[in-house]
Amino acid sequence: QNHFLSLPLQAKMSRPVQARRLEGIDKNIWVEFVKLAATYSKVNLGQGFPDFPAPDFLQEALRGALGGEKHMLHQYTRAFGHPPLVNVLAQFFEKLLGRELDPMTNVMVTVGAYQALFCCFQAFVDEGDEVIIIEPFFDCYEPMVKMAGGTPVFVPLRPKAPKDGKLMSSADWQLDPAELASKFGAKTKAIVLNSPNNPLGKVFSRGELELLAELCVKHDVLCISDEVYEWLVYDGRQHIRIASLPGMWDRTVIIGSAGKTFSATGWKVGWTVGPDRLLQHLRTVHQNSVYHCATIAQEAVAQGFQRELKLYGTPDSYFVQLPRELQQKRDWLVQSLIAVGMKPIIPEGTYFLVADISEFKSDVRDVPNSDEPYDYRFAKWMVKNKGLAAIPLSAFYSEAHKNNHTNFIRFCFAKEEATLKAASDILQKWKQEKGSS
Ligand code: PMP
Repeated sequence: QNHFLSLPLQAKMSRPVQARRLEGIDKNIWVEFVKLAATYSKVNLGQGFPDFPAPDFLQEALRGALGGEKHMLHQYTRAFGHPPLVNVLAQFFEKLLGRELDPMTNVMVTVGAYQALFCCFQAFVDEGDEVIIIEPFFDCYEPMVKMAGGTPVFVPLRPKAPKDGKLMSSADWQLDPAELASKFGAKTKAIVLNSPNNPLGKVFSRGELELLAELCVKHDVLCISDEVYEWLVYDGRQHIRIASLPGMWDRTVIIGSAGKTFSATGWKVGWTVGPDRLLQHLRTVHQNSVYHCATIAQEAVAQGFQRELKLYGTPDSYFVQLPRELQQKRDWLVQSLIAVGMKPIIPEGTYFLVADISEFKSDVRDVPNSDEPYDYRFAKWMVKNKGLAAIPLSAFYSEAHKNNHTNFIRFCFAKEEATLKAASDILQKWKQEKGSS
């Protein structure tokens, strides 16, 4: 006889299964929109990944690592980063930051930038701590802060209308210095900076970074600097690393991603660079959660960086070629959006472009007082009825501010020419149908 069978089943079900830290963060834009895109889209300019191949030299490095003599590349490596990768990252960032780095203590490899972010919040944020997030923001910052027990405090980039009817640029979205300063207080533990910024493509200027740095130093606040798009900066602009400003190295963790750097988002290799006093705590989280990231992918990324170190600043460098190609793709998409009357905000960097959809509003009804922001409804309608996937801008705002900007959607232009052309064809046809109805 099995006495377990006589236990009351109900009793087993009455205990709550969900940990309290998950309350309110179970809904996720990507689950919904990735599914919608998979079901309906003919052209997917939604999620941020290239549909063109990763560079040949990177593919070759991976093939070489897979089938080569070094069979130990199929086994565990050092937890905090495969030695060839941390070594070359240290060399590379020494160049970029103009300071000496110890590959063992100033660099840690993570499972994509995502896990680097997770490590930061887990390592630095206590119950009751506040973390400042600049809106619009890469959406995972908010739930990650909450999971760590912290309170996100939001401060918006505010758009300034450009003069003379010119198109808006991501540089027109700026922080109000007084408003920013008002968010810093005794409870502020950290600020998340994302430059170049997803979703707007804003590249923070030296002046803006100096203001942020001044406040961080004044209030003894850490800076989690998400720089995954560091190489994707256009029109001759320069990406400035906040860690290089006075007083900032000691309080900044730089986060990067091989996914964005080498157009291989599926590899999920990321890194953190910073002072040992901060990275030692990231190592504790990393050691006790994922332990390490795939050895073979780290080996191939290390080879990619070795190549780039040799070619640094030359026309053959991938870090020179990729932004040039992406800038052309950006300009192409900008022109096709202008042609149909969707006003793009010209991004200074990243994979993304945000466009004003007001011109197309007559096709998708607004439902006043609905829980769903208008841009969500618009993006869903567009993918279901036109087969074109994009992401509503309000997905990158906190719940309280979701209704502030509901006339915009985000497109990813890191795509093959044929994909961008197919998107443009859909928009042209749509525009013509509007004109004839
Ligand atoms: N930060 C930002 C701003 C991003 O846009 C992304 C990817 N969309 C990530 C971090 C995550 O990068 P990874 O794919 O390397 O985890």
